[in-house]
Amino acid sequence: MDILNLPRPAWMTEDLVLLEEQARRFFAAEFAPQLERWHADGIMDRAMWEKAGAAGLLCASMPEEYGGAGGTFAHEAVINREIALAGLDGFGAPLHSGIVAPYILHYGTEEQKRRWLPRLATGALVGAIAMTEPGTGSDLQGVRTTARRSGNGYVLNGSKTFITNGQHANLIVVVAKTDPKLGAKGVSLMVVEADEASGFRRGRKLKKLGMDWADTSELFFEDVALPAESLLGTEEGQGFVQLMQELPQERLIVATSAVAMIERALALTIDYVKQRKAFGKAIIEFQNTQFELAECKSEGTIAKVFLDHCIERHVAGRLDTTTASMAKYWTTDLQCKIVDRCLQLFGGYGYMDEYPISRMYRDARVQRIYAGTNEIMKLLIARSL
Ligand SMILES: Cc1cc2nc3c(=O)[nH]c(=O)nc-3n(C[C@H](O)[C@H](O)[C@H](O)COP(=O)(O)OP(=O)(O)OC[C@H]3O[C@@H](n4cnc5c(N)ncnc54)[C@H](O)[C@@H]3O)c2cc1C
Repeated sequence: MDILNLPRPAWMTEDLVLLEEQARRFFAAEFAPQLERWHADGIMDRAMWEKAGAAGLLCASMPEEYGGAGGTFAHEAVINREIALAGLDGFGAPLHSGIVAPYILHYGTEEQKRRWLPRLATGALVGAIAMTEPGTGSDLQGVRTTARRSGNGYVLNGSKTFITNGQHANLIVVVAKTDPKLGAKGVSLMVVEADEASGFRRGRKLKKLGMDWADTSELFFEDVALPAESLLGTEEGQGFVQLMQELPQERLIVATSAVAMIERALALTIDYVKQRKAFGKAIIEFQNTQFELAECKSEGTIAKVFLDHCIERHVAGRLDTTTASMAKYWTTDLQCKIVDRCLQLFGGYGYMDEYPISRMYRDARVQRIYAGTNEIMKLLIARSL
């Protein structure tokens, strides 16, 4: 599905082209046939994580010595695009591979990396990151979950909500205060092996406006005794700095899927308007349809060029927070606008659940909210003015 008139980006090497083909085939054969059932069940099968792991599509950017494929962020970007092009945005792998695993790789001790990364790569462990709480989301310094020292370890107490992979996750990176008096400097990341944590409880899988089968849940921690090695790294109070360093990648992941979803919406709509007829001609023959799609394609192309620029800079280790925030805010706003305009061209069918464009319309809305709302992105951009 290459609907935009762009040459292959410079960061897309030959091995990435092969990865793209492999991922496309894998998702079409293994995931796409299950979509309707997952949609009805409201969740995908846990076993699919292991299938994706066996196909080498989890943790592709993790070093081989820790079970990964030894790639870079470009590998994650290719896989994430295929997930979005296949309409699989309910699958939490981009977060698992591109957010949770990098926390362990960048801040974990050698022992922590060896303990968790290989099992994240096979899908034996499913990762989640638990920042948001019922009382605080954007204002992360306000988290009330605590990890208090107790004997040789910690005791974790608090509740989290809106957590992606919440029902399936068994490796949960929890944002907690190890020293509630210190504000941001009292924040630490605690890694919870959920299968072994007594006092840990999963709440509801939340019903949402869109992304019906995405696993988004509440999590509760009540006097969960954790060993000292649950602290990510060796020093308390580093959590906030660690979060700030990793968030640009999270924003780029969202931008990657936003652009892929724009591509998908355009492809589906162009197909449809060529087939559907009104007043004796195909819908695409109306000048309004052509102008609408010409504008959407132009804007989608501009978005992809900017995204490719960001990916190239990120792979080279030179993507700053301001630019990553621009990518997240601008591409997700554009995604919502373009999907809306595309849906209009489907007429009443665009409102019907069996037409993917209607699901894309519902699914798109959250992109402006999670991974830092678009208002928070503008605050970050404004700091550079
Ligand atoms: C489907 C889904 C999946 C998610 N997955 C995860 C996950 O895996 N892990 C996780 O930790 N969280 C996750 N989230 C939570 C998400 O990151 C938060 O919802 C988001 O950060 C916003 O926080 P909030 O909901 O508390 O909104 P609030 O922070 O209460 O914001 C409410 C409104 O106020 C605005 N606002 C807040 N502060 C300012 C400001 N300073 N200036 C201007 N406007 C402001 C916001 O932009 C927003 O419009 C997910 C959410 C959804 C919906």
